[in-house]
Amino acid sequence: MKEFGYQRVLDVSEAVAVLGADPDARFLGGGTNLVDLMKTGIERPGRLVDVRELPLDRVEMTPDGGLLIGATVTNSDLAAHPEVRRRYPALAQAVLAGASGQLRNMATVGGNLLQRTRCGYFTDVAGPCNKRLPGSGCPAIEGEHHNHAILGASGHCVATHPSDMGVALAAFDAVVRYETADGPGELPLADFYLPVGDTPHLETALPSGALITGVILPPAPVAAHSRYRKVRERASYAFAIGSIAAVLDVRDGVVHEVRLAFGAVASRPWRALEAERALTGGPATAEAFAAAADAELAAAEALPHNGYKVPLMRNLVVALLTELAEEAAR
Ligand SMILES: Cc1cc2nc3c(=O)[nH]c(=O)nc-3n(C[C@H](O)[C@H](O)[C@H](O)COP(=O)(O)OP(=O)(O)OC[C@H]3O[C@@H](n4cnc5c(N)ncnc54)[C@H](O)[C@@H]3O)c2cc1C
Ligand code: SF4
Repeated sequence: MKEFGYQRVLDVSEAVAVLGADPDARFLGGGTNLVDLMKTGIERPGRLVDVRELPLDRVEMTPDGGLLIGATVTNSDLAAHPEVRRRYPALAQAVLAGASGQLRNMATVGGNLLQRTRCGYFTDVAGPCNKRLPGSGCPAIEGEHHNHAILGASGHCVATHPSDMGVALAAFDAVVRYETADGPGELPLADFYLPVGDTPHLETALPSGALITGVILPPAPVAAHSRYRKVRERASYAFAIGSIAAVLDVRDGVVHEVRLAFGAVASRPWRALEAERALTGGPATAEAFAAAADAELAAAEALPHNGYKVPLMRNLVVALLTELAEEAAR
C-alpha cells in the first residue's frame, strides 16, 4: 500500500482549499470503500482529507418543506431519522437494505453516492478493465457478468452502480449539493452520474475537487407512499442483483402519480421514465403494471448470463406497485 498523509478538516472552505491545492488528495468519509480500494492499489491517494468533523452531519427541514441531508450523515443516522422514515420511507428502507450495521455506522451519504462498482474485474488489478485502466478492454462482456447491466451500458463497460440509497434518491428527484473553490453548485441526481459511453472511467459530473455538502429531497407528499425492495443472492449483507424504489398515488383506481427507479441494472440508479409515462392516468392494475414494466425493459440489452434480470425487474415492478395500490385502497 502506498504511503499517504492524513488531515482532518473542520470547515468546508478549508476542505475545498486543501483538495484544490493537492490533486493527489482525496476526501475520506467513512472509508468503507476508499480504504478497501487503497489496499488493493486501485486508489493511490497521497493524502486523505477526513471530512467527518465538518458541520454537515444533520438532517434539516428546508424552507419549502423538503429535507436537506448533510453529506457526513451516516447511513445509520439517515435510516433512523424520524422525518426520513415518515416522509420518504423508501429511502430509510433502501439504506437499511445495504451493507451491515457496522458499515452503516461508518458510511456517509457523500461516500455512498461515490462508491465504486463491485465488478470483479475492476477490483482485480492484475487484468484489464476500461474503468480502471482506460482503453485496456472490458473482460466482463465475454466473461463473468451475471450481475452486470442490462440498461444503458456500452461496449466499453457493463458495470452496475452498487448503491441502494441512490435508487431511492433517484425516485425522489434528489439534488446533490457541492462546494468547490469557485463556490457552491447543485446537480440533480438525474445528471449526477454520467452515461457510460466510451469513457466509463468518468463516472460523475462533479467538478474536480468538489466536496459533496449534502443532498436535497424536494417536498413531495406522495413520497410518504413509497417502498424499496431489493433482491439479492443471500438474505442480508449482499449487494442487489435487482432492486426498485416505487412511489405511487392512486385515486379512484387511477394512477395519479408514479415514480419508479431501478437498481443494479445500469451504471447509475435508473429512473424508469417510460414505465412512469405508460402508467400515469391509467388503471392501477397488475396488467397495467406489467405492461409498463415491459415498456421500460424493451430497451434492455442482456448478455448471455444476465438475462434473468429482465423478468426479475418486471416481477418487482408488478409486486411492489400492487402492494402500494392495495395499501392506497384500504
Ligand atoms: C462488505 C460491504 C458490503 C456492502 N454492501 C452494500 C450494499 O448492499 N448496498 C450499498 O448501497 N452499499 C453497500 N456497501 C457500500 C457502502 O455503502 C459504501 O462503502 C459506503 O456507503 C461508502 O461511504 P463512505 O463514507 O465509507 O465512503 P468512503 O469510502 O469514505 O469514500 C468513497 C468515495 O467517496 C468520496 N467521498 C466521500 N465523502 C465525500 C464528500 N463529502 N464529497 C466528495 N467526495 C467524497 C471519497 O473520496 C471516495 O472516493 C458495502 C460495503 C462493504 C464493504
Ligand atoms: S464492466 Fe466495466 S468495470 Fe467491469 S471489467 Fe468491464 S470496464 Fe471494467
